[in-house]
Amino acid sequence: MKKQSIKSHLKPYSIFQKRKTTINHAFASALAPTDDYNEQHVNNAINSLYQNPDSDLICVYCDNTAETWDHLVGLVKEGNLRGYGHQIGNLVPCCKECNSKKGSKDWQEFIDSEKQDEEKRSRLKRCLQTYIEHFAKPVDINTINTEMPNEYMEYLGIREQIFSLMKRADTLVEIIRNNKK
Ligand SMILES: [Zn+2]
Repeated sequence: MKKQSIKSHLKPYSIFQKRKTTINHAFASALAPTDDYNEQHVNNAINSLYQNPDSDLICVYCDNTAETWDHLVGLVKEGNLRGYGHQIGNLVPCCKECNSKKGSKDWQEFIDSEKQDEEKRSRLKRCLQTYIEHFAKPVDINTINTEMPNEYMEYLGIREQIFSLMKRADTLVEIIRNNKK
């Protein structure tokens, strides 16, 4: 490590700059569709991945033991809801390593970058495509806007108010900091 790397730490912290993405993500994620737990539905989905629903599940990407559930399609893109949510068809068994390697990458791109074998790659992509088509029911954000425009606009307005308050807090904290110098 070079001494110059300390520069990024020797800066005032901006609440708005550091937390804007987190707030956007929370507001979009909260709108995302969800499924109730239905054992038969979950069994059917897991069967369609060629796995035994009553055994320990394996990571769809690398065949190691699964430790978590990966959202195939990320919920939020550029601060907005994509339409996919917390539903079995958008959640696949995954190991922690693949989950963190995949990050916010597109699932098809991730499979292409991980699997060398062309045939295995296309088989897995076909399987997951069927899985998502059968078991995930994404919402269209425009439908929410059309069906409940008042509630939706108020919701977005609250997000904007939070942003303004964060910016005001940044201004105040700058005054406080400068006074203490
Ligand atoms: Zn894995």
